[in-house]
Amino acid sequence: MICDNIKTVTENIRKAAAVCGRAPSEITLIAVSKTKPVSMIQEAYSCGCRDFGENKVQELCDKYEVLPKDIRWHMIGHLQRNKVKYVVGKAALIHSVDSLRLAQEIQKEAEKKQVHADILIEVNVAGEESKFGVSLEETEALVREIARFSRVHIRGLMTIAPIAEHPEDNAVYFSKLKQLSVDIMEKNIDNVNMNVLSMGMTGDYIQAVHNGATLVRVGTGIFGERDYSV
Ligand SMILES: *Cc1c(COP(=O)(O)O)cnc(C)c1O
Repeated sequence: MICDNIKTVTENIRKAAAVCGRAPSEITLIAVSKTKPVSMIQEAYSCGCRDFGENKVQELCDKYEVLPKDIRWHMIGHLQRNKVKYVVGKAALIHSVDSLRLAQEIQKEAEKKQVHADILIEVNVAGEESKFGVSLEETEALVREIARFSRVHIRGLMTIAPIAEHPEDNAVYFSKLKQLSVDIMEKNIDNVNMNVLSMGMTGDYIQAVHNGATLVRVGTGIFGERDYSV
């Protein structure tokens, strides 16, 4: 079941890339495994998946301990400063950095552990009240401040699009994020690159690929509906 789903999603990504002349190798599928048991992750792993996304620090750490070390763990949920110490050195990429204070904490922890931390800036493109992330207008200023940290490296941008009735409705948010990443890239800021665009979930990853996504985060489409009551 999980392997079939991964094949289907991978094939959809390949087709979406083809229609806009992109190489499928530019896009990595992150299997969002939050709330799902280790056994299901093992199944996805056995079908070749090496990138997994979690939104809770505790859950990421528990799974990190018991699963193969060649898995790249993506911290995709809101990160509190007091939990930074648990993810630095474990998460391959932190997608959800949206403040200088959070980046400062990551720098401090990376210094302590003598490691480097790759991050994305989370942008609230649609300006939704309920969402974390900086506004489009604030992003460049934050990027410039975080760029000064020696052990924190900005690799690109991330967004969570609104829940949409029609996936095409989210294309506008994806294209705005892409444009912002191009604008920032052209500024040639030291210690900043914009190679990564993390956008698109089960409902809208095809539109995200059409608009330049390099990481798509798919949960339900791979593992099925989540049950938050367990
Ligand atoms: C849960 C989650 C996803 C995956 O959502 P699906 O709709 O199940 O694909 C992607 N990104 C983030 C940040 C999430 O929290």
